[in-house]
Amino acid sequence: MFDIEEIISVIKDRQATSAGLQFPEGLKRKGPEIAKEIEKRTGITVIISGDPCYGACDIDEDLLEMVDVMFHFGHSRLLDDDRVVYIEYYHEVDVNNAVEAALPLLGHKVGVVTTVQHIHMMDRIIELLKKAGKEPVIQKGDTRIAYPGQVLGCNFTSAPKDVDTILFIGTGNFHPMGIRLSAKVPVVAADPFTGEARIVDVEKIMRQRYAVIAKAMDAKKWGIIIGMKSGQKRLELAQQLKGLAEDAVLISIREISADRLLSFKVDAYVSTVCPRVAIDDAGRFPVPVLTPVEFEILKGLRKWEDLVFDEIKD
Ligand code: SF4
Repeated sequence: MFDIEEIISVIKDRQATSAGLQFPEGLKRKGPEIAKEIEKRTGITVIISGDPCYGACDIDEDLLEMVDVMFHFGHSRLLDDDRVVYIEYYHEVDVNNAVEAALPLLGHKVGVVTTVQHIHMMDRIIELLKKAGKEPVIQKGDTRIAYPGQVLGCNFTSAPKDVDTILFIGTGNFHPMGIRLSAKVPVVAADPFTGEARIVDVEKIMRQRYAVIAKAMDAKKWGIIIGMKSGQKRLELAQQLKGLAEDAVLISIREISADRLLSFKVDAYVSTVCPRVAIDDAGRFPVPVLTPVEFEILKGLRKWEDLVFDEIKD
């Protein structure tokens, strides 16, 4: 659960008279209870952000302007803004079974990565690996990354390359596939909730992405999408990409949707927003939406075999 005492103490220390609360979708249901508790204990005005929130990069800037302090739940520190206090959320699930299941699939030297929800289990993971005779390697990421060994969907800089295997502890496919493509060493994904482990296969996603690039080959009119969320603004990159196309326009979008993409009557887009959008939502888009890396491949500036997921690095 969240450390409510920390929240109260920040409010008192800062003599704040108002606070904003921002939750990712899966945690929004906890908002009203936390808001009431803060109001009861401090008497200040508390406002919950009702807009979607997908990551630590996604601060509700309008609400931030209205309050003295913003508590952003469920993610680790990403932006350096004193007004924003990140309140992390950890899954209270044991990692023993997941690590046990992964052991037969691992080489000797093992890079260990996970998401912030399991980062508090890192010492336990290392202990289990050492006990099994492995040599765990934990690498520090760039400044976008709060903890050694932590990965984001947009940043795999903590994934070591000089290891036999990388062990990813967590759920879902996006992170382990991104790590596999970025580090170019075998990745084993171990899910603490199911206790199952598997070798990560990127063939299917590669085929899907090649198909999207191929579909965009004949595009004449391009839209280069610039993100409006605090930690996703990459204007310089967008300008460079625009220079690669003969007929391209820069378009700012806060929330990308199929309808918004249709409005501009362009043949294809390059998205410089959260790297997950082009990949996770590909099936919803009416026209091809490429990542910057994929656009470089289409323009012949990068080889097809160098396809990796887009990353936002510092
Ligand atoms: Fe998460 Fe995407 Fe934001 Fe990166 S850019 S922190 S993956 S929401």
